[in-house]
Amino acid sequence: MKKLLAALGAACAIAAAPAAAQQDFSKVEVKATKITNNIYMLTGAGGNIGLSVGEDAAFIVDDQFAPLTPKITAAIAQITPKPVKFVLNTHWHSDHAGGNENLGKAGALIVAHHNVRKRLNSDQVIDFFNLKSKPEPKDALPVITFSADMSFHMNGEEIRAIHMPNAHTDGDAVVHYMGSDVIHMGDIYFNGFYPFIDTGSGGSADGVVAACDRVLAVATDKTRIIPGHGPLSNPAEMKAYREMVAAISGRVKGLAAQGKTLDDIKAAKVTADFDEKWGKGFIKPERFVEMLAGPLLRK
Ligand SMILES: [Zn+2]
Repeated sequence: MKKLLAALGAACAIAAAPAAAQQDFSKVEVKATKITNNIYMLTGAGGNIGLSVGEDAAFIVDDQFAPLTPKITAAIAQITPKPVKFVLNTHWHSDHAGGNENLGKAGALIVAHHNVRKRLNSDQVIDFFNLKSKPEPKDALPVITFSADMSFHMNGEEIRAIHMPNAHTDGDAVVHYMGSDVIHMGDIYFNGFYPFIDTGSGGSADGVVAACDRVLAVATDKTRIIPGHGPLSNPAEMKAYREMVAAISGRVKGLAAQGKTLDDIKAAKVTADFDEKWGKGFIKPERFVEMLAGPLLRK
């Protein structure tokens, strides 16, 4: 566990409740990046937060780890005097939904896809990191859940949450700030490094590629994209990410279909031409191949 936490560092990425309890958040600074007059990206430790402000209320997408809630709310208070009225979880992982209980207790309404509530409300295991988590207390659970999509009409625009099936998990939501032309991708998009795809929670590389394609189809050249992890981005960068995931997962699938073993697939160095750009994050090339091959070889 210590090793994993060291690897994750301050910037990323997945950690379940026991990990969060051990991690030292005292040095973490929560910083706000202004994207438009209404929309900010907050970074600290864990997933990037989307913040909508304006005449109605503060609305955040994801809330990082529980110990960071005071720093997150202090950063929001620097931007708007309005309270946090809604929290939308892009998925259930605790580096994105760990602040739910604090914010729920403070009166925010938590919103997510149906499967996020189901997973937060039951025992979960992330085999890939050997992490386990227990059901969350009532205040941490989404009180409003949706299936395909839902819209918020506040702060002068429509903010649409859209479910992307079986992508990073089985409960992912992408959030489109429609008037502002900003899209929050959650962990469907890791900007700059190989992603974690939680196949044990219903995620799949095909779903990640399909979700990127759906978003790229509605994005314009000016669209700003908030990734789950990594710096603020744009459609051209996300397209390169989509091509990388599609290429590597396609190669792994091809080898698995030929009956190759995991060792054979790793030896084939299917990530080689992408490692320079994407292989220096918390998921190393070999682990990325294991992640993609695992579900195929278990079938
Ligand atoms: Zn995640």
